[in-house]
Amino acid sequence: MLSRFERHKGAWDFVIIGGGATGVGIAVDAASRGYSVLLLEQSDFGKGTSSRSTKLVHGGVRYLEQGNISLVMEALKERGILRQNAPHLVSNLPFVVPNYDWWETPFYGIGLKVYNLLAGKYGFGDSSILSREETLRRLPTIRTDGLRGGVVYYDGQFDDSRLLINLVQTAAEQGATLVNYAGVTALTKGHDGTVDGVVARDVETGREMRAAARVVVNATGPFADNVRRLADPAAAALIAPSQGIHLVFDRSFLPGTSAIMVPHTRDGRVMFAIPWHGHTVVGTTDTPIAEAVLEPTAQEREIAFVLETASLYLHKAPTRADVLSVFAGIRPLVRAGDSRLTAALSRDHTIHIDASGLLTTAGGKWTTYRHMAEDTVDQAVDFARLPERPCITRQLPVHGFAQPADEPGVLSLYGSDASHIQGLERSDPSLGARLDPALPCTGAQVVWAARMEFARTVEDALARRCRALFLNAAAAIRMAPAVAALMTRDLQRDE
Ligand SMILES: Cc1cc2nc3c(=O)[nH]c(=O)nc-3n(C[C@H](O)[C@H](O)[C@H](O)COP(=O)(O)OP(=O)(O)OC[C@H]3O[C@@H](n4cnc5c(N)ncnc54)[C@H](O)[C@@H]3O)c2cc1C
Repeated sequence: MLSRFERHKGAWDFVIIGGGATGVGIAVDAASRGYSVLLLEQSDFGKGTSSRSTKLVHGGVRYLEQGNISLVMEALKERGILRQNAPHLVSNLPFVVPNYDWWETPFYGIGLKVYNLLAGKYGFGDSSILSREETLRRLPTIRTDGLRGGVVYYDGQFDDSRLLINLVQTAAEQGATLVNYAGVTALTKGHDGTVDGVVARDVETGREMRAAARVVVNATGPFADNVRRLADPAAAALIAPSQGIHLVFDRSFLPGTSAIMVPHTRDGRVMFAIPWHGHTVVGTTDTPIAEAVLEPTAQEREIAFVLETASLYLHKAPTRADVLSVFAGIRPLVRAGDSRLTAALSRDHTIHIDASGLLTTAGGKWTTYRHMAEDTVDQAVDFARLPERPCITRQLPVHGFAQPADEPGVLSLYGSDASHIQGLERSDPSLGARLDPALPCTGAQVVWAARMEFARTVEDALARRCRALFLNAAAAIRMAPAVAALMTRDLQRDE
């Protein structure tokens, strides 16, 4: 990628700042339309919010309750497009809403029928009402006293940072140049005061990188205002950051294949307990915070709230000692803006063009990243007067595209890359062994991450390539020295 960067002469059509779902989605869209694209990420791809989601590809039952039908329909359509283009990473998951009050069954029964109807041809399966026995069969660990029955509906589940890495690969295959560990430190301006490029720092060498651009897109999510203030230190805040946490437990807390959806917690939020990679993920919270940081930490009261809510629904209440991992992410929520230049193409995401010509895309959610990217590129092409070219991402397979096997194995998430990882294991059988008995992560996955998936540090491999750190922090720490040794060899680093 760095030599691609060096080889490029003249201005790029697009320079994108930020390597999360928003920025990488824009890179895929713009590169596949034939524009020249440079994307710079200050840390690892997905280091921000995009690896810290609830892992749902969903329409958002909450938006339905709020009556925001068009938003739900848009997200349900994107859910269908994503499963079509990345079937190795998106799966269909049954969600059960357990009912303890008499009115819940008809209320959620009808609501979730509507949810599925809104998906039209992109539907994931019909919802249905469950008896008490059927609810218990699907959720053997659910609290039984007062349980009347439930409603089951279907939504999408995915692996967020693995999808992101596959999208980085897709963008690269379409000709984009994407560099991680290259943070943008300044924006350059032409004589008319319009932003015309960026200055970045290669974190590994300290070297300065300069790139001229026809349009600079700020896709830094929760950090968007920091980048806007590089162009205009007085820019009013666009983002109202809000934190959400998840706790991870072992599978015994949710042993079946169905997830639990709690439509109303004590603070009026939706809470999920989800089977994910052989574990149970429970979340999330919504805590306004003053400022976005790259490594947000869960607050004590957030941990207490998730544990308390889980204990209301699970037979065996999880305790702090059961927590295997905890992760916090920051929602890049967009404030209600008053700028005349704000072009709110959807109520879910916002595209904002500052007086300096810096284009910022923020808000939305993982599920709608493709639609956000299409809107952004359309807007940027218009703004920068680039030649118009049609968007092709609705039909563009994501890197690794492969239909899942009937009996998906550990490597099924790698799709068509699985055979290459098996090839590594065949050439060196020691790479096929688990790095820790608690998790199915092997040396071959680490070598693959370093060689083909842009992993530069031990944490990149453990957190966002094989997900060990998100599943079991203690196991990830035990694996770290072996991962370091493998990566040292592959990335030609010293001890
Ligand atoms: C708790 C939680 C749960 C969620 N669950 C879901 C879900 O289940 N389904 C769903 O669809 N959506 C979900 N979302 C929403 C979704 O995760 C986000 O909308 C999405 O990940 C935002 O992506 P982004 O690229 O805008 O931001 P980010 O992923 O944060 O990416 C921004 C990137 O910009 C980089 N950056 C910042 N400054 C610079 C700079 N100066 N130079 C270079 N790079 C820079 C950062 O390092 C970061 O990697 C959830 C969000 C949260 C917080």
